[in-house]
Amino acid sequence: RAKENGRNTFRIYTKDLHHDLTEKLEMLKRLRHAIEQEKLVVYYQPKIDFNSRRIIGMEALVRWIEDDGTLIGPDQFIPIAEDTGLIMPISDFVMRSALAQLHEWRELGFTDLTMAINVSGKQLHSPDLVDNVLDAIRRAKVPANRLELELTEQVFIENIQSHTNFMHSIREHGISLAIDDFGVGYSSLAYLKNFPVTSLKIDRSFIQDLPGDKDDATITQTIINLAKNLDINIVAEGIETEEQVDFLLERDCNIGQGFLFSRPLPAEEITRLLEQYQGLIPIQIA
Ligand code: C2E
Ligand code: MG
Ligand code: MG
Ligand code: MG
Repeated sequence: RAKENGRNTFRIYTKDLHHDLTEKLEMLKRLRHAIEQEKLVVYYQPKIDFNSRRIIGMEALVRWIEDDGTLIGPDQFIPIAEDTGLIMPISDFVMRSALAQLHEWRELGFTDLTMAINVSGKQLHSPDLVDNVLDAIRRAKVPANRLELELTEQVFIENIQSHTNFMHSIREHGISLAIDDFGVGYSSLAYLKNFPVTSLKIDRSFIQDLPGDKDDATITQTIINLAKNLDINIVAEGIETEEQVDFLLERDCNIGQGFLFSRPLPAEEITRLLEQYQGLIPIQIA
């Protein structure tokens, strides 16, 4: 009987696996089609300086719009894109779009804005990455020092020589380098010494339950201290309440993003926001 059960379990398992694979292949087909048909769009989320209420920059966040208008978030398709090489055309598209958009906002007079772009670890395997980034900057006619690349902590922890070379070369050209989702990876932190990092972005999971959660409060405080001691900028992600801003301001973290200020929005809506409030965010902070 045990044997029978075992066999059944196996059968169910392979069926699930088959189902998963079919679903993935279907997804892949649709994603490839979406890229060809230019169904991807870049949304932008403002980054705010709490003290001045100024919008100091944007983060580019890709979305996929299906024919019926459904919006698909990057968490749904970036992983599969990374596994299949489709991350390359997607990243090129995001880089071109975001830098062209930055240029447009600069033309409107918002010349201080920075643009942050998420870079997948998989892209770092390409030896042309630095050249491609520099080429995109030149074409868009924006200064290199307005661009920031965000890499997740995992990329730093892997500590591969080509990654290190990439980071130094990026910094030599004046491009900023942020560690995204900081604090969620398991690491010794020693890597912070070895990389030319300009900012740390505290992961949303630590911000979410502030100020009530004692552990998160301690972790956030520790990350802020760490960044300060290493002379690295600190940015808080996922701010949704005034109380979170108060907590961060009291601990000398002055910059952040989150739904409290603005959700990621299409470029036109961001343009309207910038023009209507002259580069400030229309909410009273602390
Ligand atoms: P991320 O870079 O850490 O981006 C922040 C995510 O948090 C975004 O999700 C954003 O919409 C969300 N967020 C911002 N503020 C709040 C808030 O107050 N509350 C909540 N609940 N969420 C908030 P999104 O746009 O779904 O992106 C998810 C992830 O997908 C990004 O995380 C990034 O790792 C990846 N991603 C997005 N665009 C790209 C891209 O162009 N290339 C690559 N390689 N990855 C991308
Ligand atoms: Mg990011
Ligand atoms: Mg993040
Ligand atoms: Mg994330």
